[in-house]
Amino acid sequence: MTFKDFDFKEKLQKSIEDAGFKEPSPIQVDAIPVILSGKDMVGQAHTGTGKTAAFGLPLINMMKGNNGVEAVVIVPTRELAMQVSDELFRFGKSLSINTATVYGGQSYSRQLKHISTAGIIVATPGRFLDLLRDHKIDINPSFVVLDEADEMLDMGFLDDIKEIFTFMPSNRQTLLFSATMPNAIKSLAKSILVEPEFITITQSEITNSRITQTYYVVDDYERDDALIRLYDFKNPEKSIIFCRTKKEVDRLSTFLVSQGFSAKGLHGDMEQKQREEAINSFKKGKLEVLIATDVAARGLDVNDVSHVFNYHLPFDSESYVHRIGRTGRAGKDGTAISIVTPHEFKMLQKIQKDTGGKLEAKVIPNIESVK
Ligand code: ADP
Ligand code: MG
Repeated sequence: MTFKDFDFKEKLQKSIEDAGFKEPSPIQVDAIPVILSGKDMVGQAHTGTGKTAAFGLPLINMMKGNNGVEAVVIVPTRELAMQVSDELFRFGKSLSINTATVYGGQSYSRQLKHISTAGIIVATPGRFLDLLRDHKIDINPSFVVLDEADEMLDMGFLDDIKEIFTFMPSNRQTLLFSATMPNAIKSLAKSILVEPEFITITQSEITNSRITQTYYVVDDYERDDALIRLYDFKNPEKSIIFCRTKKEVDRLSTFLVSQGFSAKGLHGDMEQKQREEAINSFKKGKLEVLIATDVAARGLDVNDVSHVFNYHLPFDSESYVHRIGRTGRAGKDGTAISIVTPHEFKMLQKIQKDTGGKLEAKVIPNIESVK
């Protein structure tokens, strides 16, 4: 199967080639024909499998262009809004389809100006709802996409999303994409989609098999030491360390910088400019280590992350899957390493059970009290 089989417009075909996409990913193979047929659709596939292009390409192909806002894509975070926007712009530009990015913290006037020339809006729920409620925009999109829907619900956007749909035309085509499919997503799909087709890309395990997963057991006071030793030992080229709290992110980034690492933190209390700076320098390779909370790093698409570290285990298996999905993207291998203390064993067992038991125990060299 190649992208040519979809019969996309020639200019779109060319943009796909220019992007270096050779063959469609499994979710793209299954979703694109359904979307082109005009049906509502729910798509589930793990992170890094190309869900953005799975909806972006058929929508861009179906858009008329120069016709006001034809498509709205709702995403959980500002970072994702920018990322998805960039990806859609890359495919739309040859067809003169502009993309406007809408999120909190930027001036209304600037966003409204962008919207006035855009065919696609990529928005976070809160700001988009503000614009709709205050009648600042009057749009009639043919396509509405909820992207990373599980994350939006986790972040408490359910009511906002429901209200957004009261402003959307009823003859729209609606698409919902999610890495996981909890009941809350199924019932949301029931309430806003019409007879959707469900597409699930199943794998023998939930997580990507290109990711090697290991854990190291230490005592709580040894976490920092263990982390440094693991870095010495593994020499990660580009890595993300996950912490549970913003405070921990701040403390750990100060500590790592003091140890000579080129590291920065990423969390929701930082100013947007700082967050963008951290992400950009990480993407460009100026920064080796990004230390992040779960929310800040959700959906983050940096293709060449070699290692993900869990400084603490997350509180649930889904977060674990999201976290380690930051590595092993776009066909590359990745390594996920968790630092675990004995009081986290219960969580560890749950994660092992939920993810198909791929996590292997390892021993850190030169740590005496390894259990
Ligand atoms: P998801 O939303 O499923 O987590 P993304 O849509 O962010 O994944 O895609 C992950 C990365 O893979 C992006 O950098 C994207 O450009 C790239 N990608 C998507 N589809 C293809 C493809 N068919 N061939 C090569 N790269 C792809
Ligand atoms: Mg995505």
